[in-house]
Amino acid sequence: MKCPAITVAPATIHIDSLSAFSYSKVYRPAPMPDPERRQAARPREHPLLSSTVIYTHPICLEHDTGEFHPECADRLRAIGHILDREEFMYVPREEAPKATLAQILRAHTQDHYDQVMDSIPTEGSVELDGDTFVSPRSGEAALHSAGAAIAAVDEVATGRSRNAFCATRPPGHHAERNAIMGFCLFSNAAIAALHARDQHGFKRVAVVDFDVHHGNGTQDVLWNEPGTFYASSHQDDAFPYTGKVEEVGPPGGCTVVNVPLPAGTASDVFRAAYTDIILPKLEAFAPDFLIISAGFDAHAADPMAHLRLQVADFEWLTQKLLGIARTHAQRRVVSVLEGGYETRALAACVAAHLRVLMEG
Ligand SMILES: [Zn+2]
Repeated sequence: MKCPAITVAPATIHIDSLSAFSYSKVYRPAPMPDPERRQAARPREHPLLSSTVIYTHPICLEHDTGEFHPECADRLRAIGHILDREEFMYVPREEAPKATLAQILRAHTQDHYDQVMDSIPTEGSVELDGDTFVSPRSGEAALHSAGAAIAAVDEVATGRSRNAFCATRPPGHHAERNAIMGFCLFSNAAIAALHARDQHGFKRVAVVDFDVHHGNGTQDVLWNEPGTFYASSHQDDAFPYTGKVEEVGPPGGCTVVNVPLPAGTASDVFRAAYTDIILPKLEAFAPDFLIISAGFDAHAADPMAHLRLQVADFEWLTQKLLGIARTHAQRRVVSVLEGGYETRALAACVAAHLRVLMEG
């Protein structure tokens, strides 16, 4: 998740690549009110009070990317703190299972799976590329992250819940069919999409990705897959430097809609991009299952990019997406956490996103 410039008080640092950049010098996650708080699965006590279920797993906190890396466990701790609020008390929590090899191989090559698992160290952390680090529990965390998305699809496809949110890490949308990239090991949203199509028989599975970075991995995995749709809004000329308007998908494969937005884009242009381009294309596709790649790093406070969205924009977009799911997909939505690195903004965005999901 490289970007041309990162602004962190008191200095402004301009970089072309995070590869040559030390997180420890410029990025410090916001402190958590309770640093020891752990997000744990809870028994489903009130299944009729919420349309939403949350999938997570404590091992996602043990994916250690090193000191001061922006994709850190404090992100999930911040979300866990929000989920402890009374308003979310009755949202059921489920412990995410591990994805099976067969489920991973719908989206990735055997070589990719082997390379990820073989890279996991017995101690310390290992740098796989300039951005992506793994530690002893990272392989398990990645399998549970993918497994959360799969279990969420099963939950929603079978009508047990209307929708689901996966509060997991590592994120997935940069992981290509045969490559780790940008903090991502397995392509969680694409794995979920292919599971929805192949295991449950959905004919038109859409992924909408509002992370500030283009989901090159999801696009790569789904590119030749019939019955799929991938739309992304993202900052133009930012990592991973893909997602141009011309990337529309091959005949018979994925319908791809890319809307790059210039740095500095705020609510009005962002909402217009969805109202004028992405939502009409999604309506035309008429998805019978909708997956959201929910990255919140387009928030104005996020240090990793330069869009200027507010919490209300994520709430607005979630409402629009659920409206389309209500029309075409019998409300079936699975939302998978991607980016979001300013932990207070991330938590506020997730809370707003969840409130809309809870309305179904
Ligand atoms: Zn991102």
